[in-house]
Amino acid sequence: MIDLGWAPPVGGDVVVAPAGCEWDAVRASTAVASAAFQILDGTENCAAIVDARAGWVYWLLPPGERGGFAHWERLGQYVTLLTAGSGTHYVGVPPSHRPAGPGLHWRITGEWSGRYLAQPYYLGAVLTSAVCLAHGPGALPGQCAWCERELDPAYAVTVHGRRAAGDAEPQPLSVHPACARAARLRASSQEPRA
Ligand SMILES: [Zn+2]
Repeated sequence: MIDLGWAPPVGGDVVVAPAGCEWDAVRASTAVASAAFQILDGTENCAAIVDARAGWVYWLLPPGERGGFAHWERLGQYVTLLTAGSGTHYVGVPPSHRPAGPGLHWRITGEWSGRYLAQPYYLGAVLTSAVCLAHGPGALPGQCAWCERELDPAYAVTVHGRRAAGDAEPQPLSVHPACARAARLRASSQEPRA
C-alpha cells in the first residue's frame, strides 16, 4: 500500500517547497481541474491546492509514485507532473487551516476524505478524461491499443485482435508496428493510416 498520510503544516503561512521530496505534484489548468472535480468529487475526495491568480490547480502525490500511472507524458500538453529529477520545481503549499481564498488555498469539499495526497493512478485516469472533457476528444495524442504508450497516427498500423480477454470478436486496433510484431497480431494493413 502506498502511504497517503502526509499533511501540510497546521499553522503559519504558505510554505514553498520542492517537488520530489515530501511529495510529487501534478499541475493542471483550472479548466482541466474543473472537469476533473466533476469526477473526483464523490470518489477521490482528496484536497487540492488552488492558485486562482495563476490559474493552476495542484494535486500532491506520494513521492516516487509516478509508476502508478504510466501515461503522464501523454497528458503533457495540459497536465504537468512535477517530481525530483531534472531541475527543481517549487510548489507553494498553504497551511491546513486555509480552505478558502483569496490567495493560495486548499480546496476541501464537504465529502473530503481527510487526505492531502491523491492516489496517483486514479488521479491520472481522471485527468485523462478531464482533458478530453475540457478540450475535446481529439486533445490527446493517440494511444497504442497494445502497449498504451503514445502513438503517432503516421506510424500506426491497424491489426485485428482482442483488446480485452472478454472481447467476443477481434476488433480493429491501432498499434505500433513493433507491438504488432511482438504480440504476433495479424496486421490487416501495413500502410500508415491517413
Ligand atoms: Zn505500442
